[in-house]
Amino acid sequence: MILYEAYSEEEIRHYAILEKVTDVPIRNRYGEFLMAAFRISCHGLITEHLALYKDLNSNMPKPPLPVRINSACVTGDVFGCYRCDCKWQLDESLRYIESSGAGFLVYHPTHEGRGSGLVAKLKSYDLMDNGLSTAQAFRSLGLVEDNRQFLFSVVILREFGITNVELLTNNPQKIRALQSMGIVVEKVIPLVMPTQDPQILKYLRSKRDDMGHLFPGDL
Ligand SMILES: [Zn+2]
Repeated sequence: MILYEAYSEEEIRHYAILEKVTDVPIRNRYGEFLMAAFRISCHGLITEHLALYKDLNSNMPKPPLPVRINSACVTGDVFGCYRCDCKWQLDESLRYIESSGAGFLVYHPTHEGRGSGLVAKLKSYDLMDNGLSTAQAFRSLGLVEDNRQFLFSVVILREFGITNVELLTNNPQKIRALQSMGIVVEKVIPLVMPTQDPQILKYLRSKRDDMGHLFPGDL
């Protein structure tokens, strides 16, 4: 199982928001939200990130704010592929934020394939079909199991002055990332997809066993 390093203030100094657009109203099947987009530079590389949020001001005096850090998954989010729980988690998070009346979702398009991209992801699917776990597949491709940088999320949360959160996640690294940067995680809301699909169950077990995700033991 991978053990993550905590982030430091030293590292986040390499991140800078170059450009942003905020408070763009959008409507979707879950409700009404505001959207923001950012161009962020990190060590000379510029990437774009999104946030979707609602009613921050009314919630701010009484934190914690429901927060989801969401990695892009084109195969799941767009094509509805039944290999992972990403789309379900995204839907569930938006539903939760809408029903809470306030919340914040950061969406990282560059976190596709756990930060290694679409080519690596599809190669890993092929290897997983031949019996490897997700972590084994990534390692056999010469990649780390998780190449995502959650400091992008911290930069965006800080930009909005978000200090106390209830975090929608099963991923202990996301909890640790925020905590190590001084964001108080008051509560963790698990997102466990109810499924009997053997392929998705295998993927969830692999996240639990290889990456330490906080799933119930009887998954
Ligand atoms: Zn996915």
